[in-house]
Amino acid sequence: MSTRPFNFSAGPATLPAEVLAQAASEMLDWRGSGMSVMEMSHRGAEYTEIHQTALADLRELLALPDNYRILFTQGGALAENALVPLNLLRGHPRADYLVSGSWSAKSFKEASRYCEAHLVASGEADGFKRLPPRDSWQLSKDAAYVHICTNETVNGLEFFDAPDVGDVPLVADVSSHFLSRPMDVSRYGVLYGGAQKNVGMAGLTVLVVREDLLERALPVCPSAFEWRLIEQNDSMYNTPPTYAIYIAGLVFQWLKRQGGLPAIEQRNRAKAELLYGALDDSEFYYNDVDPAARSRMNVPFRLRDESLNEAFLKGAKERGLLQLKGHKSVGGMRASIYNAMPLAGVQALVEYLQAFAQRHG
Ligand code: PMP
Repeated sequence: MSTRPFNFSAGPATLPAEVLAQAASEMLDWRGSGMSVMEMSHRGAEYTEIHQTALADLRELLALPDNYRILFTQGGALAENALVPLNLLRGHPRADYLVSGSWSAKSFKEASRYCEAHLVASGEADGFKRLPPRDSWQLSKDAAYVHICTNETVNGLEFFDAPDVGDVPLVADVSSHFLSRPMDVSRYGVLYGGAQKNVGMAGLTVLVVREDLLERALPVCPSAFEWRLIEQNDSMYNTPPTYAIYIAGLVFQWLKRQGGLPAIEQRNRAKAELLYGALDDSEFYYNDVDPAARSRMNVPFRLRDESLNEAFLKGAKERGLLQLKGHKSVGGMRASIYNAMPLAGVQALVEYLQAFAQRHG
């Protein structure tokens, strides 16, 4: 397994090799049950154990206060762009949105179909290179919630502290940095994200919802996506994405073996410092995101001479450094260095960056 290449995909993304190996060894027969996890009834004793253990382990990792509920559902973060308003708008016609990059721009646009979505501030005029400062936000008086994306996967911007929005519930799309470090969940009303970055595989959406916010759905909200119903049924209102929850459960156990979120944060910091340091030291590459908001998970960068992009990617692949191409909307390169990316992967990337620059600089 030490010979696997390093995969820098933004998602679906690299998983811990130990998790993949365990899933492989349990594929045909989960712990003497005679069944693959894929083949189990979601109501049976075996799957119930997998499901409840995953919920409990996630609660423990997040040190979740008692008044928060975890929901496992489907649809991905994009579906939540519609389901957040449908679940929270009762009694409020308006919701506030911060646009700090391409994912929050999508959230804002989708919400406009369901409510009066109010733009509190946008970083677009700055090319999404910095987070709009909190004192520039124009919050409305009667918003149902304030929505932010705490890690912009394409633009490479991250919030390191929850912004103060008073008593209005703060809703965060945490898709691309969930579980990368401890988070003070009590500052938020809702966290949501797709699992295919730090949690596991595509197909599972994870939500963390403050209990009192489970009562605010609009009557038109589809029942299968109504948070209260999902919660009342222990995330089994309908068939849950069982295999994706099983994989997430293996990832949670892996995270606990690593020392939990404080330990993974230290590793993530070290990886990000190494990579940004190498980019900043070079005249060949650059990342022009405000250093205070640079994401520790997604590191977009460019070659000053973009005619070398193809050669760069080809050489990277030959060295076993995969999926470094930037998002199609912005071009350039991007290295996603999620929890499962070992320091050795970032070291190998930095060595390659230097070698390529030396050869072509
Ligand atoms: N939000 C963010 C921050 C993302 O990174 C992504 C996926 N890359 C999405 C939303 C969309 O998620 P999904 O594809 O799971 O709907």
